[in-house]
Amino acid sequence: MQTAILRTEDVTKVYHTGAVDVHALRGIDLSLYEGEIVVLLGASGSGKSTLLNILGALDRPSSGRVFFRDQELTDLSDAALTEFRRDRVGFVFQFYNLVPSLTAQENVALVTEIAEAPMTPAEALSRVGLSERMSHFPAELSGGEQQRVAIARAIAKRPDILLCDEPTGALDSKTGITVLEALVEVNRSLGTTTALITHNAAIRRIAHRVIYMADGEISRIEENPNRVAPSEVSW
Ligand code: ADP
Ligand code: MG
Repeated sequence: MQTAILRTEDVTKVYHTGAVDVHALRGIDLSLYEGEIVVLLGASGSGKSTLLNILGALDRPSSGRVFFRDQELTDLSDAALTEFRRDRVGFVFQFYNLVPSLTAQENVALVTEIAEAPMTPAEALSRVGLSERMSHFPAELSGGEQQRVAIARAIAKRPDILLCDEPTGALDSKTGITVLEALVEVNRSLGTTTALITHNAAIRRIAHRVIYMADGEISRIEENPNRVAPSEVSW
């Protein structure tokens, strides 16, 4: 029996902008299980980012409930949600958002200085294969290396959940694979539950499960018993 770490119950999200309401999520029932890598696939506009942001408590649903283990997140105050996010969730986005005037190590230290029981920046960077690049500035690093710094920054606080929105979206195939390798290694060694959005279907092969979204709904969930290493994936 797998343990759900995050669970949604009939989650909807409606954006009220302009004359028409956008139904971004139309009743999502989903569990993410301890230690798994899930890939979320779906066309642009299908609701992937909206769902990820709600799972990571960056946003609230319009209706429905979200649970982290036994705790209902949808009950929490804004302050308590912020605390949940700070302690439990790591985010990685398509653009790395590193501070240009700080080295790789200093960028990671921004997070470790405020976390409860963080790993050192050196350990976090070593886990993504950047031990030799710690004192480089972002401008001295390739796109893939910068994204791995962003991953190091996200995992340094030892989050329970790592949420990645198009982490390879700005990268070529070869560089994207080094980023996926870092994510798979973090998942393997730390057991961090990882959800990864992509519109690149080939990447589903690295996941334990694949969640297909269409038009604000989950259209299909597949188990992937034949996972492959990122180096086996090409696009
Ligand atoms: P995906 O990540 O799959 O491309 P999104 O979750 O970003 O999809 O968007 C789902 C739908 O919600 C789209 O129609 C999008 O235009 C709309 N949407 C997303 N964010 C907002 C927002 N902040 N305000 C209004 N509409 C939004
Ligand atoms: Mg998106």
